[in-house]
Amino acid sequence: MVSLADIKKFFRGHIAINEPMAKYTSMRVGGPSDYYLEPTDKRDLVEIVTYFQKNNFPYLILGRGSNLLVSDDGVRGAAINLEASLSAIRMEGDLVIAEAGVHMATFVDFCIQQGLSGVEMLAGIPGSLGGAVVMNAGAYGGTISDHLVEVEVYRDRQVQVVKKEDAQFAYRQSSFTHDIVLTASFRLPQGNKEELMLRRREFILKRNITQPLTLPNSGSMFRNPAGNHAARLIEQAGLKGKRVGNAQISEKHANFIVNLGGAKASDVLTLVDLTRRTVYQNTGILLELEVKLIGFPNEVKREVA
Ligand SMILES: Cc1cc2nc3c(=O)[nH]c(=O)nc-3n(C[C@H](O)[C@H](O)[C@H](O)COP(=O)(O)OP(=O)(O)OC[C@H]3O[C@@H](n4cnc5c(N)ncnc54)[C@H](O)[C@@H]3O)c2cc1C
Repeated sequence: MVSLADIKKFFRGHIAINEPMAKYTSMRVGGPSDYYLEPTDKRDLVEIVTYFQKNNFPYLILGRGSNLLVSDDGVRGAAINLEASLSAIRMEGDLVIAEAGVHMATFVDFCIQQGLSGVEMLAGIPGSLGGAVVMNAGAYGGTISDHLVEVEVYRDRQVQVVKKEDAQFAYRQSSFTHDIVLTASFRLPQGNKEELMLRRREFILKRNITQPLTLPNSGSMFRNPAGNHAARLIEQAGLKGKRVGNAQISEKHANFIVNLGGAKASDVLTLVDLTRRTVYQNTGILLELEVKLIGFPNEVKREVA
């Protein structure tokens, strides 16, 4: 077991104990994390993670928590938030270099201000750059990996650079699941700043019309099965508006589960389970979760993943 005193020997940043994860997830659910850490810089992060790995102490890298369902029991070990320590973005020659904690909206805005195109469709994704790279986030025909050149990661207890060709990007996945993404570099095509701003605005308006953005949620709960849409299958199963506790399958977009206020992770999970069973009975298609389950026993993960 790693104690607070042990952590303090290796860590200079902010530490909180029993910090509610609901504060750090867009769904606003999730129990406490034993330790919650905000490293001061990359070195601080690398040192504490190396220490945790050597001691087999579990840790979770938090982006903006927009693709997570954290259990009501919370997270054993440490949740590490990179937002404060890895938040720089700069041009280096023709490359945009952004650190993992940069908010997607800031990244897109930076690129547009430089007159660079190819990421404006990602503007409304409410995650961090690091979370987007790990998830290979995408929207409206574009993905974060389209113009990516390379990623600096912490892997095998060292900082190393992975070229895009070696990152195995696919639909909402990459090879970075067990690494820590530190920085990503992009080479983007030139564009017209005014046009790009207009396009970004249109993409954001589209989201406002189609997604339940006034209520806490984790975006799409399920991956789209090949050649189909999870939302369509859920709607056809008659589940729109279905409620368990204070969690509800959105009336506006059936692939979103919204928190009506004070929902429990267990309510969300019950809805997930019901959705999968009903869609499977109706169509023979087994929906796969897109949202990551954190702090749940392996049996639960196996049942719904
Ligand atoms: C309203 C709404 C709309 C959304 N729309 C879209 C969309 O259009 N397209 C889309 O693809 N997604 C969408 N999402 C889902 C989500 O925003 C993306 O998956 C996003 O990329 C997750 O980033 P995050 O920083 O919030 O990651 P988190 O949710 O914090 O983490 C996701 C996973 O990545 C890991 N992780 C995070 N940062 C790092 C890092 N630096 N190094 C290693 N691992 C890391 C976490 O441990 C976790 O396993 C939406 C979500 C919401 C709430």
